[in-house]
Amino acid sequence: MLDRSNELTAWDRDHFFHPSTHMGAHARGETPTRVIAGGEGVYITDTTGRKSLDAFAGLYCVNVGYGRQKIADAIAEQAKNLAYYHAYVGHGTEASITLSKMIIDRAPAGMSRVYFGLSGSDANETNIKLIWYYNNILGRPDKKKIISRWRGYHGSGVMTGSLTGLALFHNAFDLPRAPVLHTEAPYYFRRPDRSMSEEQFSQYCADKLEEMIITEGPETIAAFIGEPILGTGGIVPPPNGYWQKIQAVLDKYDILLVADEVVTGFGRLGTMFGSDHYGMKPDLITIAKGLTSAYAPLSGTIVSNKMWQVLIQGSDQLGAIGHGWTYSAHPICAAAGIANLELIDELGIVENAGTTGAYFRSELEKAVGGHRNVGEVRGDGLMAAIEFVEDKDDSTFFDAGRKIGPQVASALLERGVIGRAMPQGDILGFAPPLCLTREEADIVVKAAADAIETVF
Ligand code: PLP
Repeated sequence: MLDRSNELTAWDRDHFFHPSTHMGAHARGETPTRVIAGGEGVYITDTTGRKSLDAFAGLYCVNVGYGRQKIADAIAEQAKNLAYYHAYVGHGTEASITLSKMIIDRAPAGMSRVYFGLSGSDANETNIKLIWYYNNILGRPDKKKIISRWRGYHGSGVMTGSLTGLALFHNAFDLPRAPVLHTEAPYYFRRPDRSMSEEQFSQYCADKLEEMIITEGPETIAAFIGEPILGTGGIVPPPNGYWQKIQAVLDKYDILLVADEVVTGFGRLGTMFGSDHYGMKPDLITIAKGLTSAYAPLSGTIVSNKMWQVLIQGSDQLGAIGHGWTYSAHPICAAAGIANLELIDELGIVENAGTTGAYFRSELEKAVGGHRNVGEVRGDGLMAAIEFVEDKDDSTFFDAGRKIGPQVASALLERGVIGRAMPQGDILGFAPPLCLTREEADIVVKAAADAIETVF
């Protein structure tokens, strides 16, 4: 293949507005452009022929791995037969209807309907609208505030950017703050008192939530949104008992729970859904990434039967629901979703995420856990993080200017492995494709240990 890297790099600098990128540094050529050309299994290759083991599965989304013929064929077949038809006023396609049934068959108990979107962000926007609509139909016009958590990530739309509890996504955007409140992150490693047990810290988080609800007035709080395990905020599993204690507070004040399973849905924690893994009882579940393993953009809001029974009363009162996207339930994306869910079952990768994930995390702990600048190795299923500290004994942060996370990520890349410097803190994250083998896990662990030795 002709190497077009130079030409593409020039066009990229001049015309491509990249998401989540330092705009000036990139336009000036201070950060590299890497043009990705192909992918196979857990590897991607760029236009210069350089191959990397992608231990972050793109953006924790290519769950079945790259280059799956079955999904490519399903997409091509659907495009030839029927590239598009909308889903408004009761229309559907074989693909979209079949996929909705497949999702409900796999979802936690009590789920009833799927509303399709294209991204995790738009699915969470749908959630918020449905929550407000639900409370209006129930005659509770004041019950509208949404509680999210610091370090939570729920997208970067206008409303979902507000829900996201990371400063980077708020800076200078004037996002609406009013209906959104942020409560404590379940970040045990950075708990306020080192002597707290995990259970005590979970109780502390639940107490903080309850205090907020009482201060604001329970009649004003509509919902709580959380990722089963914090993802972009640093790959932080909940401390023991966390979700049970949070759930008890929500039930006490009749507050809905939204499980944002954009990352954890379809296997990443070794169960089909993270809600099942941690015993959450959501009223709404957000899905995206793993639904198609990113072979096509597709997301969904899974609505519980409890909410559905109220929502359908809405149409009797108000007429058709005024919420729709042109590309909702796009048949090409739905066809990709069906092939992907079939492949997940055929390959047994949900189970693999549990077993290989446990192996990967324990090898990582053995290889780097004792390092003087590693504060913690943590994770669950096929999600793992290494948090770096200046001083292991008192978990001191590095000076932010040193950008330790990005330094380790780039040393790792030099060793042929992609990890992710998480956006807040000195944290290196891993979320490889769920088909990862033990041999591939060993490659990642070795590269991580070498990269850490080089940086410190
Ligand atoms: N929710 C969670 C938990 C996510 O991790 C993400 C993206 O990483 C989103 C929502 C937003 O999804 P998208 O980037 O598809 O809008």
